[in-house]
Amino acid sequence: MDYTQSPEQAAEYAMSAVELMNKKGIPANPENFTVWFNYFAGGIPELKRTIDILIDNDQEFTNDRNIEIHTRFFTFEEESVAIHKATEKAVEELTRILEQLGLAGDGAAKYGKVLKEFSGEISDDSGPDSLKAAITSALRATRAMEKQNKKLEQKFEQSSKEISQLREDLETMREEAMTDGLTGIANRKMFDAELRHAAMDAMEKGNPMCLLMLDIDHFKKFNDTYGHQVGDQVLKLLAKTMTTSVKGQDMAARFGGEEFCVVLPGTHLEGAVKVAEDIRKRIGEKKLVNRTTGDNLGQVTVSIGAGEFRFGEPLAQLISRTDEALYTAKRIGRNRVVSDASVGSSQLSFDS
Ligand code: GH3
Ligand code: MG
Ligand code: MG
Repeated sequence: MDYTQSPEQAAEYAMSAVELMNKKGIPANPENFTVWFNYFAGGIPELKRTIDILIDNDQEFTNDRNIEIHTRFFTFEEESVAIHKATEKAVEELTRILEQLGLAGDGAAKYGKVLKEFSGEISDDSGPDSLKAAITSALRATRAMEKQNKKLEQKFEQSSKEISQLREDLETMREEAMTDGLTGIANRKMFDAELRHAAMDAMEKGNPMCLLMLDIDHFKKFNDTYGHQVGDQVLKLLAKTMTTSVKGQDMAARFGGEEFCVVLPGTHLEGAVKVAEDIRKRIGEKKLVNRTTGDNLGQVTVSIGAGEFRFGEPLAQLISRTDEALYTAKRIGRNRVVSDASVGSSQLSFDS
């Protein structure tokens, strides 16, 4: 982040930030200060827009919310460390190339000098012996130059290979950090980032956004009966089914263990319930067969909770409301979809 304000201007933003944090009961820790200083400095329009929306909606700046804002706009965590390291390496590689270029320049200057001497020598119109000697020395210098050029070419080639490799490594690292090792879909870290992003985007554009949380029914029993490895295959199949059921900006992720979730930007609760029903049916229809033994393993079913994001609410609240819908689905019989809108009434009918 570049700060280019004058000391007076910076002091003014700092005072406004502290004053507003005091007024709203926001602890003036370094993270929050960064957010509010930048809000007043106005250098990040998206940050300003997001906070203005929250203020307009009379939203509270709770601890969770403050952390969310700071993370969204100011931290890039491991990725930035990895990029920093890769950049350092690329700089090293470029420095080496520049050094070689310097050497090449020296070599060329030397060669030029020999050629100049050579032309001086032959214009002297001396005898054939000295002409021969001049040609021999010019030839030697030419070969030396050729050799140096060849070496240089190889070094450049190696450097460019290393830089490409670095770029590939960086890309792989980024993907691995965001992917679940077993199922190959987005992991929890990616889910957190995407959900944060989708929520901010929804608030900025005034679009709806929904979340699905899915849990396999009686999976412990399945593992106990067929073994953990077969269970893992089911998780893979489930991830695949989920990815084929969602499209566009939707993102399916493994939340942890045998729980999955889907972020559905631009989708109202009604649409989200439809997607959830589609996933539930597709999974329930799959006949599981053990590939090695050919044994029929029957079917697995899933329960799904669907929740709609309420502008300005902390994401932890959306997750816990959706989770509650999921557990209502479990309580009232499993293999079904329950939305956060019907949680209250489901609980009532269940409890009474
Ligand atoms: P419910 O219908 O209430 O969800 O019952 P459940 O048995 O699925 O729930 P419970 O939370 O008791 O058990 C979850 C089980 O999921 C425990 C564990 O055996 C299984 N599980 C969690 N993570 C993995 C995994 O990575 N691989 C496999 N094979 N099984 C897992
Ligand atoms: Mg579970
Ligand atoms: Mg389960």
